[in-house]
Amino acid sequence: MKLLIFILCAVCSYFASANTKQEKPNLIVILTDDQGYADVGFNGSKDIRTPNIDRLAQSGARFTNGYVTYAVCGPSRAGLLTGRYQDRFGFGRNPVIDPSDETSGLPLDESMISEVLKPVGYTSGIVGKWHMGTHPQFRPNQRDFDYFYGFLSGGHRYFPEELTVPSIEQAVKNWSWYNTKLLENEQTVELDKYLTDKLSDKAIEFVEQEKDNPFFLYLAYNAPHTPLQATKEYLERNKHIKNKKRRTYAAMVTSVDDGVGRLLDKLEQLNIADNTIVFFLSDNGGAENKNASDNGPLKGQKSNYTEGGIRVPFAVSWPAKIPAGIDYDNPVSSLDIMATIADITRAPIAKDKALDGVNLVPFLTGEKQGVPHDILFWRNFDKQIFASREGNVKTISSPKTGEQLYNLSNDLSEQNNLLDARAKLYDQQQSKIEQWNKGMIAPVFKPLQHGKKKSKE
Ligand code: CA
Repeated sequence: MKLLIFILCAVCSYFASANTKQEKPNLIVILTDDQGYADVGFNGSKDIRTPNIDRLAQSGARFTNGYVTYAVCGPSRAGLLTGRYQDRFGFGRNPVIDPSDETSGLPLDESMISEVLKPVGYTSGIVGKWHMGTHPQFRPNQRDFDYFYGFLSGGHRYFPEELTVPSIEQAVKNWSWYNTKLLENEQTVELDKYLTDKLSDKAIEFVEQEKDNPFFLYLAYNAPHTPLQATKEYLERNKHIKNKKRRTYAAMVTSVDDGVGRLLDKLEQLNIADNTIVFFLSDNGGAENKNASDNGPLKGQKSNYTEGGIRVPFAVSWPAKIPAGIDYDNPVSSLDIMATIADITRAPIAKDKALDGVNLVPFLTGEKQGVPHDILFWRNFDKQIFASREGNVKTISSPKTGEQLYNLSNDLSEQNNLLDARAKLYDQQQSKIEQWNKGMIAPVFKPLQHGKKKSKE
């Protein structure tokens, strides 16, 4: 009898696992760095061609009001990877790049997408920029990423001959971490081609290797973040752009777009495209003054809490479930990526670490009506800037630029401050921000000292 039960259980669990294996979608998040809202074809770019990123957007949904949770790299990525406002756990500024610093990283009691997906059978890989802490305890392989190829810091140079610093431990001068050699898991490796192309190669290798298992790939390009560096081939393909800075930026985007195309082709070739969810977005608005990006009609740029700093090119594709060709206009957030993934895979989420995002799929299939978010919030702790968006009402309070209220439905460029006319509404929104802010904490690590020698105290 015992044997019979054992056999029955084994058979059941075999079918259960085979069934789950088939049903579990693969997950890919493609993140670019400092790319402008208007710098993808699907948001109307005229001079930069992104046929492959557009193909991805057209095969699913383009979010016209897609936001990230912070206006610069580090905190925005912490929000994306945890699905929680990063100020809940003190990631309210860019981390210090110092492998001896045990505080500067994503706190170990928070769970990243990779950590949430591990118990439900996913293999995770990150290719590209990490920026979630350089101390050994914070590195990707400690966070349930089974595979890592890339670099730990917040930015990097693109040509092999410039990668002269052997390791992050030896990057003692400020910004010399842009010159470190790359890591493959914990091994130092030599780069043999233009970085962006190499990251695409490694992403494709990972997908090939994991094609038979449910996988999560986080492809975090550092392009088109400065330094502006591109190959002759990519520059040649953008020779129609006269401004040299903009041409180089465009060439960097071309390299990303080629990589996205090769990755999508690979999914099709492996016959897994249909059941693979692919998100594409930038980590913050374009740094127009630094990389010649273009946020189109949006006001401001990276580091601002006007739309240009936080509204980004954002799209998702999942051919098996999401209809093609959707333009989705209600505000969505990078926080929704984790919530979507966790919901679909039924990955358990700790009760005391509730997610701030929602599963977007039912909104895209029409199963759910209404808006995914009643209200979205932003906070820059160091500058004491707060912002909110509810419906089309946007508020910003900033010691430097003052109190502002805009109606985005007829003032996308935030030109007409309605503060005086809508004082009561402004106050209501501030009360909501105050309430939300009670759940946030101060940063748990010291600030990155821009322009100063790193202190090794
Ligand atoms: Ca960035």
